[in-house]
Amino acid sequence: ERAGGEGWQAVVIGAGQAGLAAAHELARRGLRPSEDFAVLDASPGPGGAWRERWDSLTLGRAHRVADLPGLPLGSPDPRAPASRVVSDYYDRYERVFDLRVQRPVRVRAVRASGLAAPALRLGRPSLRSRAPGQTGESGVPRDTWLAVEAEAAGRPRTLLARMVISATGTWTHPYVPWVPGAPGFRGRQMHTAGYRRAEDLAGARVVVVGGGLSAVQFLLELAPVAASTTWATRRPPNFTRAAFDEQWGAEVERAVDRRTASGTPPASVVRTTGIPLLPEYLRGVREGVLVSRGMFDRVGLEGVRFSPDALTGEQARGGLGPSARDGSGGAGELVVPESWRPFEEPTWVEADVLFWNTGFRHALTHLAPLRLREPGGGIQMSSRVAVARDPRVLMVGYGSSASTLGATRAGREAGRVAVERLGPAARRR
Ligand code: FAD
Repeated sequence: ERAGGEGWQAVVIGAGQAGLAAAHELARRGLRPSEDFAVLDASPGPGGAWRERWDSLTLGRAHRVADLPGLPLGSPDPRAPASRVVSDYYDRYERVFDLRVQRPVRVRAVRASGLAAPALRLGRPSLRSRAPGQTGESGVPRDTWLAVEAEAAGRPRTLLARMVISATGTWTHPYVPWVPGAPGFRGRQMHTAGYRRAEDLAGARVVVVGGGLSAVQFLLELAPVAASTTWATRRPPNFTRAAFDEQWGAEVERAVDRRTASGTPPASVVRTTGIPLLPEYLRGVREGVLVSRGMFDRVGLEGVRFSPDALTGEQARGGLGPSARDGSGGAGELVVPESWRPFEEPTWVEADVLFWNTGFRHALTHLAPLRLREPGGGIQMSSRVAVARDPRVLMVGYGSSASTLGATRAGREAGRVAVERLGPAARRR
């Protein structure tokens, strides 16, 4: 890939919030964009996942979009679509710091090349691999190049890298739970990732699935234009009085970190954050729009069957919090009891559209050849960004850093750790 067979010091995969923050930190610490490190992004333009989001998601309605390091977002119009504002912001960021993002370049796989590379410096114990079976520094893959196999304009391309910073987000991996009968449904099934505007569902009978903020916001948008809306959640809606402040944010991050430190897949941030008590949401509850009817356990040709068993069975498998059946939302208290009215008998509800707002999974298939997963399905992290099994790989936007604030912080940390591991030879300026 490089003249003379030289590889890259680092390749950053993905140019969303996390990837840009990492690239910025690499540059700030003396690595040169397009010389020492490359940033590859599958999207046709700047903005990461934000450029794909629906029109009605304005900055005022987003939780919060954190600043990237070194160039604040400023105070754009809160009524402007977040997709446009954030794409413009990232575009500006890439140009101001001359990060030379290459796009559209999709990484298909990262593999061990077996070719000898300058060894990484893993001096401090916190930087060493703690992978079971790969003890200490012996056996730790730190002195061979990684082969980053990508596709650009339909052409394969391979880059050799001493380190990879993976920042691919979740947007490309929508998650839909399996429910018997779903493949036979005659209506339309769609996921959060495919939503553009409420008018597209005008006149339809819509079942909205999921207990997170996307479901809540879509229900309120769809109610005036749809023929009907029905809300399906496995648990009582998790309204919370918690102030979305820094202390609360730190607690959420610690909870997710505990999971990734043990190699367990990270819990959904949506599930951890809860629904704030906004006046428009409470109005939605009063008007019957934000009232969950429980969950369905069967999809028919023309609708879904809600059943109390969907809740009991789920609880039996440990999926529901201990207090969910008594309606207390798992937190010991049901904050808005009127929002939970599950069907007490099996009940068919006819539907034209099943709208799954059931979250995303981390986009990690490109890392599969490196076999980073633990038996539990997660990737064990030895710090917020460092993968325990392979010191050549850092991940940002994974686990506790899957928020715009967390992604920025983790990106910075990844840049710092990468430069430490690459050692002084990497900084040629
Ligand atoms: P992304 O922004 O997804 O960027 C990943 C980039 O990697 C993309 O450009 C993609 O094209 C590229 N990519 C993916 N795969 C490959 C590949 N194989 N090869 C090359 N490039 C690839 N967080 C908040 O803090 N506040 C909010 O209000 C908020 N709202 C959200 C709403 C929704 C619906 C979702 C799904 C998430 C929301 N989040 C929010 C979470 C937040 O968006 C993210 O945590 C953060 O912006 C993600 O940044 P990222 O850089 O990790 O990923």
